[in-house]
This record gives sequence, structure tokens and C-alpha cells, in this order.
Amino acid sequence: MIVCKFGGSSLANADQIKKVKQIIDMDDRRKYIVPSAPGKRFDSDIKVTDMLYAYYAAVQRGEDTEPLFGDICQRFLDIRDGLCIDTDIGAYLEKVKTDVLGGAGEDYTVSRGEYLNGILMADYLGYDFVDAAEVIFFNADGVYESEKTRTVMRGKFRHSDRAVVPGFYGSMPDGTIKTFSRGGSDITGAIVARAARADVYENWTDVSGFLMADPRIVDNPNVIKKITYRELRELSYMGATVLHEDAVFPVFKANIPINIKNTNDPDDEGTFIVPDIEENDADTITGIAGKKGFSVIAVEKANMNAELGFGRRILTALEKNAIRFEHMPSGIDTLGIVVADSEIENKQAGLLDDVYNLCQPDSLEVMGGLALIATVGRGMINHIGVAAKLFSALAKSDVNIRMIDQGSSEINIIVGVDEKDFENAIRAIYNAFCS
Ligand code: ASP
Repeated sequence: MIVCKFGGSSLANADQIKKVKQIIDMDDRRKYIVPSAPGKRFDSDIKVTDMLYAYYAAVQRGEDTEPLFGDICQRFLDIRDGLCIDTDIGAYLEKVKTDVLGGAGEDYTVSRGEYLNGILMADYLGYDFVDAAEVIFFNADGVYESEKTRTVMRGKFRHSDRAVVPGFYGSMPDGTIKTFSRGGSDITGAIVARAARADVYENWTDVSGFLMADPRIVDNPNVIKKITYRELRELSYMGATVLHEDAVFPVFKANIPINIKNTNDPDDEGTFIVPDIEENDADTITGIAGKKGFSVIAVEKANMNAELGFGRRILTALEKNAIRFEHMPSGIDTLGIVVADSEIENKQAGLLDDVYNLCQPDSLEVMGGLALIATVGRGMINHIGVAAKLFSALAKSDVNIRMIDQGSSEINIIVGVDEKDFENAIRAIYNAFCS
């Protein structure tokens, strides 16, 4: 059994939705469908979700919102007409307007893109419509309630063997609508896959899978055929995204693989995201990702490694200033704390004061302009010479390495380089392993 989530670009207009129906009809196992709101039809177009955010804000400001609401209505009317179905979408839209003008919240408003699209899709496919508000729950603090959701959703699916469940939202204990963060339909898809005990969670987008490197930096990078959840976490932490970060957790618990697929090229195999399994078939590296905007706080003190409690005092200073750190490579007399620039903005002076007072270092310096690059691969564990290849590729490209870190999981080598070397370094690593 397969659960399919279709992203906004896959559902941007009637023609795209027709492609989606063909895909669903191609495999009888595609039983539960999770749609996003209609996305962009062309580059300069506006996603329906963004139109709804703008509409809500304009209502709050007391502006004339008729034209804006008219544009939103038109998107759905065009889809309905293009699909040649007779859903009374006008009545649903009217209800949304009444609710929003009557004081409904922002989350309710912006979730209507998925809701209305779900109603149209269910009619067009001949599937049941299951409102996410009735099967996805948050507690009073707004925290997603996985067990309650699973039980109720499973009960619902017992009476509905083919259904459309709109993405992005659920409900609070008082019945009001709450959304996940942006891109959250991916999470809904994973939740539905878990509740329905799917064999695969297909996530349909407009790219043929997860690329080994950022195509803005590397020309035509290879598609990753298979990646483990753990590797995916490492790469998405470094900014490479195909999927909402939190979408992995529900299916991870249930051992359900995710298949990233392309609606515009359905025969392409795409990328499989799989549980952590012992494998010998892995390539040496799976992917490369990186981010700019880091600084190193360099602490120097003679004999610091022999000083009991030195690390704790550094961590106390960080915690006291509410600063999260990324890495902390250390030597005998030196220790570096790698932090995102956004973390120390406005907090740097306080942190330095506290480190001075608590640790009495010989010197303390903040050096900015650092970029981090993660080279990730479960195949590294069994290959000798990966680090050698990586470092010599950087040396040959004249890239100076400012920091090195390899996590204990041994699936990731992280290097810090000057921001000016960032793109060059990524290309050098990619070429060393992939061409
Ligand atoms: N429509 C929502 C957004 O644009 C959720 C989603 O598409 O996943 O963020």
C-alpha cells in the first residue's frame, strides 16, 4: 500500500492535477493521497498559501480584501472548471470568507489552501475526503500528539480505503485549526503513511530526487538513489532540503521508506530514503552540503586540557547566554567553539565577558567568515582513504581548511573553510568522488 503526498507545483493547476490522477491510476496501491495547496504555475506566480497569508494580514489591517479574495477564488474555480467536475467550490469559498471576516485565526485561514484543494481532488479522483482537523491533533501547548492521531486516523481509515487527507494542518483540543510550519504537508504525508501502515511513502515534487550537491554550485549533480534517514538528517542540517525536516520522524518510527518522485517525470526512480541498514552496496559518499555564516570563538589557555572543569565552564558561558554551538574541536592549549553567526548576534559581548570571568583564558578571539561543508556517506565506514581523498582535493584546489570534525557515527566529515572558498571547495569534493 502506498501513501502519496503531492507538493504545490504538482497541483498548481488542472493540467498538473490531471497528471497526478494518471500517476495514481497507474498503481492500484496508491490509496491515501495528501495534497498541498496549489503552488506556482510559473516562476513569478504566487502560491495559494502565500496569497492566504496576505489575505489574512490585509483583513487584520482592515483593508479592502475583495480583490485579493477574488484572486484566491479564481485559482480554485479555474482548477474546478479545468477538471470538468461540478464541486460547489464557490460555497466552500464563501464559508472561508465568512469565517475569516468573522475572526477565524491565521492558521485556519492559511490552511484553507490544502482544505479546498483536498475537496476538489477527492471529487476528481472519486476518493473519500477526510478533513485533517478530524484526524491530526495537537495538545493545548501546540505540540503534535502522535499516538492520539495514529489511533483516530487508523479508525477512520477502517471505513475509508481510499481517501484524500489535506496536508499542513490539524486541530487543537478546542477544535481550532493549527498548522505545522511551512512545507508541513510533508509531515502530514508521513503521519498518514504511518497510520495507514504504508509500505512506501511517495513524496511527489518537481525534481527527480535528492541531488548529491547543490545544482547552483555543481553542474548537473547526480541524483542520490538511496540515502538513509541518518544521512538525510546530516545533509538537511547543512541546508540541503527536499523534504520538511520533521517529516522523517513518523515514518522512521515505522520503518517506512520514503520515495521522492517527480510528477513531471513519473518513470524516474527518484530517491529512496531508507532506514539505517547494514549495507555493502553503498557508494563511498552519498552527498555534500554546506552553509556559510559561521564563526569560531577561539579560546587559548596554557595547559587547558589538564584543567578540571574547563569544558564545563565554557559550556556554562554558552548556556547562560542562550547560545547553541555546532562544533567544539579542541587541542592541548586551545579550544574552538563553532557557532552560527545568527546565534551570537547581539550576544557576543555577554558571552566573551562570561568566558573571561569563568575561564580566565590567555586569549580570546572571534573569527568570522567561516563556511561549513559536510561530506556525508554511510559507505565511508568501510572505505579507507576517504579523508585523504577529500583533503587532497581541497589542497589541489588551493582551499585552506580551517577546521575538521568527524562525528562518532563516522558517516560524516565536516570541514570549515573561508566563505570565499565555499563554492570552490564543494566542487573540488564533488569532482574528487563523483566524476
Ligand atoms: N502549503 C504549505 C506551504 O506552502 C504547506 C506545504 O505545501 O507543504 O508551506
